[in-house]
Formats: sequence, C-alpha cells, structure tokens
Amino acid sequence: MNLVERPNRLAIDAQRLWSNLMDLAAITDNARPYTRRSFSGLFVEGRTWLRRRFLDAGMTVREDAAPNLIGRLEGQDPALPVIAIGSHSDTVPSGGRFDGILGVLAGLEAVRSLADRGIRLRHTVEVIDFLAEEPSEYGLSCVGSRVMSGSLEDRHLALTAPDGEQLIDAMERIGGKPHDRAGAKRTDIGAFLELHIEQGRVLEQSGTDIGIVTGIVGIVRVEIVFQGAADHAGTTPMDLRADALVAAAETVMQVRESAEKLARKRFFVATTGVIASEPNAANVVPGRVRLIVEARSEHVADLETFLAELDAFTSGAAVRSRVKRTAFTELSRSLPSPCNEALRGHLAAAAESLGLSTREMPSGAGHDAAFMGKIAPMAMIFVPSKDGRSHCPEEWTAPEQCAAGAGVLLEALIRIDAALEH
Ligand SMILES: [Zn+2]
Repeated sequence: MNLVERPNRLAIDAQRLWSNLMDLAAITDNARPYTRRSFSGLFVEGRTWLRRRFLDAGMTVREDAAPNLIGRLEGQDPALPVIAIGSHSDTVPSGGRFDGILGVLAGLEAVRSLADRGIRLRHTVEVIDFLAEEPSEYGLSCVGSRVMSGSLEDRHLALTAPDGEQLIDAMERIGGKPHDRAGAKRTDIGAFLELHIEQGRVLEQSGTDIGIVTGIVGIVRVEIVFQGAADHAGTTPMDLRADALVAAAETVMQVRESAEKLARKRFFVATTGVIASEPNAANVVPGRVRLIVEARSEHVADLETFLAELDAFTSGAAVRSRVKRTAFTELSRSLPSPCNEALRGHLAAAAESLGLSTREMPSGAGHDAAFMGKIAPMAMIFVPSKDGRSHCPEEWTAPEQCAAGAGVLLEALIRIDAALEH
C-alpha cells in the first residue's frame, strides 16, 4: 500500500494520528520503555493526556465505575443506540507503543475526522479506553471490559498484587467505584468495534493491509499430573521404573499431533507451556510431573474433541509408563466470541472502498472485544505487526498501516451509522 499514490482516499489525518501515538508513547517509564502499567502514576498521566485529546476532539468525557475513560460525541438522534470504539492504553512491562493504544487513538482520530469533514452522525459515538486489559500486578486481564459487560465477579476484587494491595483498592485509588459496578453494565451499545495490531505474522507474510476478524478464540487450560516413583537412576532397571516424565513427554508430542490434525480443518492451536518435573535431578528417575496444556479455537466442538483425545491419551500414557495420572483438571475456560456478520461486512466494505486488501482471520489472542461481545454486536480489525512482534519495545506498525486502520474505522462508522436502525 502506498499512501502517496492515493493521497485523498483516507479521510483521516495520518500525521495527527502518528503524532498522538508517539506523544502517548513518551509517557513511559524511561528506564523500561515502553511501560505504562495500569493503576500506575504513568497510567493516570497517560489518561490525563487522553482526556485532553478527547476534549479537543469535541467529545464530552467521563469515567465509569471501573474506571474506564469514555469520550462521547452526541449523535443527532439520542434515542438511537451508541456506536462504541475501544481498546486500552495500558501496557505490559517493556511493552510496545501500539498494542491497545492504536485502537484508542484510531477511534479518536476517526471522531476528529468526522468533525473536520463537518459530518454529524445520527448515532452517538463513544471512544473507550478500557481499564487494565493487560494482566497487571493483580493477575486479571480485561478489568474494564469485564465491568462494562457485567462480567467482573466479587472474587476478582480480592485479587492481590505482590505489594499486598487488592484489586478493589487499586480501582478505588484511581477513581473507580467497584461497588457500583452493576450500574456500569451497558445495554445501550448497538455496535462495538476494536482496531488492534495483529500480534502475529499472517498479514505481513501475505501482504494484506487489513485483517477482518471472524471471532476471538476460546481458551481452555488443563493441568495434568503424572505420579511415578523417584527411584535411583543407577540401581533401578528400565523395566522396573515408573518414570513420570516419559508419560509427560509422550503427552507433549500428542498435544502437537492432535492440534495439527484439527488445524488442517480450521484454525486451532495447542501448547504445552508448563512442565515441572520433580525432583529434577540428574541421578533420579522423575517421580512427579505437572503439565499445563492450553488449547485455542473459535469452535467449542474442536476444543471438546481435543480435550477428549487428550484425556484418553494421557490415561494410556500413564499405563505405558507404570505411573498414575493423578490430575486431569480444567483450570480455566473462556468461550469463543464470534464477530458479528453484519459489522464484519461493513468493515470489509469500508476497507475495499479505500482500496485496501483484506483477509478474514481469527484472533488467537484475547481482547476487550471478547467481553463487549457479551453485551453488543462486536467486530474487530487487525493491522500488520512487523515480524509479528508484540509486548516488546520492537513492536511496530508503520505510520501508513496505522492510518489505513483508522481510515477503515472512519468509513465503517459512517456505513454503520447509515445501516444501524435500532
Ligand atoms: Zn491489546
């Protein structure tokens, strides 16, 4: 894509968007760029900056009970539902300048461009900076979108950071009212859009401008424990061993095989990300091994097939190694969140109208949009990530790629405003 060849196709101000990205990136822990963790002083400073930009764009600004920061541009017809665009301004430690941030600033740029062009939409538009999308010190991701979708549970509020502060106190410290969160659950949003960097290599490798997300994967995590006998590695003959690590090793290979088989049909990934062997000594047969296996898919049926195969396989692997499988426990499960067909169509048509190439793809990572999908029709677009890198200072999406994404948001806003009736 070359913006020079199509100077007037994108109705947004690419330079203004890029300046905003770099200005917000400068609000960082200078010792560890780019770090702006939720609940930190830098995060609050970033929000103060964002609030000013929202006001400059002609929006009113408020914070809800999370607090999420919300900019609002009133539409012509207050009876119509809100079209919301959102993502997050917090980062992981030593993170990037684009993950989440681009989604918020592209929404801001789309709203500014409406004003520049003298367009007043029928629907009210909101731009949302969700609180704590990244896991933060409290170990919970998507805090703000959980609040807005009515998904934040009492037990979450008691989660505690290493310094002893509970999540509920951290939320209050930065202006939230977690006890009033029921009132923050939204029922007035008619469409939710999120622009995000891909965090993978698919768009870059295929030379595609815009990813139209089909859905956000569901994620299942299972803990498997094999219990054998930690015998002497020199005096225990091979046929008398109960080696838990051999059963675990077979399991690692099976996870790959099952996932590859399912992935031949449609997107599916699975990973053995944790393996803890005890006593983990050179002269002792491994007596106990704990694995955590994770699988991701847009289809619950595929997750179930994978789990059933893994359950049967690990029972057999235990018998073969003369060990016991003492745990096969589902640790967590999030359901897939499909993107709305009609909104996907508007996003694709918007991209095509700008001469941008598109490709349908799942989101293998979780996003605020997954929670917003519980309360509103939801859709997402991706823009390319250089070398697929993210959550690191090298994270990069070129200025023209950021501008293309914002341009699609603006065009989609106009199309959705015309099409959305209720
Ligand atoms: Zn993100």
